[in-house]
This record gives sequence, structure tokens and C-alpha cells, in this order.
Amino acid sequence: MSDSYNPLALMEVDRALQANTTRIYHQATRLAPSLGGLAVLLDKDVTYFKLDEQGLGGSHLAVTPQSEYYSRFLTSGWAGWRMPEILRFFITRGVNVGTATIAEALLAHEMGHAEEFVTYLKEAGGDNAQAYKAITQERARQIGTLPLGMSTHRAQKNWEGNVNNYQRDIRKQGYSDGDWEELLETNLVAYAQLQQECTADAFALRVLAEIYG
Ligand SMILES: [Zn+2]
Repeated sequence: MSDSYNPLALMEVDRALQANTTRIYHQATRLAPSLGGLAVLLDKDVTYFKLDEQGLGGSHLAVTPQSEYYSRFLTSGWAGWRMPEILRFFITRGVNVGTATIAEALLAHEMGHAEEFVTYLKEAGGDNAQAYKAITQERARQIGTLPLGMSTHRAQKNWEGNVNNYQRDIRKQGYSDGDWEELLETNLVAYAQLQQECTADAFALRVLAEIYG
């Protein structure tokens, strides 16, 4: 168990978005006590879980108070592709989906990734570097099965910066700009169906069910 939990980052998000991520954090640690004390840092732009080869003690969650980060999920339709189950969860309960709920769902989801790391850590029986290697390799394997063979974020970056002639190569295969948008969408949908993503979502839904009933 880590003991570096810092409540300030979550308080900042809650203040900025009128959200209740602090409650999400505590509910998640009640369901998965080994996550208790997991460090939370404030990030300018993104919310994520960063795992570390030293185990949970070296890992951390990062959360951003940027409302644009969360509203993008809604305005671009990403929420529907990336988190269909969670969106359905809110809608069937009549919960208004906004930046606050997206922030809560994302934190719960990222803690789901942390919880999966815990199962790897347990399996490795104290060899944290081995657990880190195993889950990272599995991550790479799953990402490799996506239609674009990489995360949508990475593909977008490669496209925008034409990294290693990426854009040129895609166009060479006969894809137009419209096709590219469709490819990204297909990739996003497939991403949400990766086993690791579903595991994280399942955990998030358990946490949200405790709060939203
Ligand atoms: Zn995820």
C-alpha cells in the first residue's frame, strides 16, 4: 500500500467542475483497499493512471481540472465511443451527463486500470518489475490488435505531424480525409472493447453504482 495520497488534486478538480471525484476515490478504495493511499497528482491537461515498475508505491493517478478536457468527450462524440456502458449507466438513471460526471467516470476508470495492475502485482508475488513488464506487454499486445495498430491518440498525432510519412502512407492506400475520420472512429470503438479497457470500465461501473445507485 502506498501512503502518498494527496487530497489537494482531487479537491481542485471538484472545485473547478463542481464534481465529486474525492468521493469516487474513496469509494474505489473501499472496493479495492490495496488502492488506498495511491498518489494523485494534478495535471494541466489529462487524467490518467501511470503505472511504475516499483509497484503501486511508485505509480500515480493524475487528474486535470480543465473542463475543456472533459467537455471534448461530449462535444466530439468520443464519450459515446469510448465509454458506451458508462454513458448508458448515467442515462438510464437520469443522471445529467456533463463535465463533472465525465471527470468522475474517468477517474473511476483509471482506478480500474490501477486495480488490474494490483492483480498482476499479486500474481508476480512481490516481483513488481515482473508485474510491470507483464501488464505493459499485454497492453502493447492488445493495442496492436486495433484496426490502426496503435492508440487513436498516437494515430492522430502521427497523422497531424505526418510522423514517418504516416499521413502520406495512409493516403497512398487510397483513404480520403473523410475515410480517415471514419478509421479513427472505428479505432476508438475497437479500443473501448479491448479487454483492459473493459476491465477498467467494469470497475468504474461498480464504483459509480455505489454512488449513483
Ligand atoms: Zn482506459
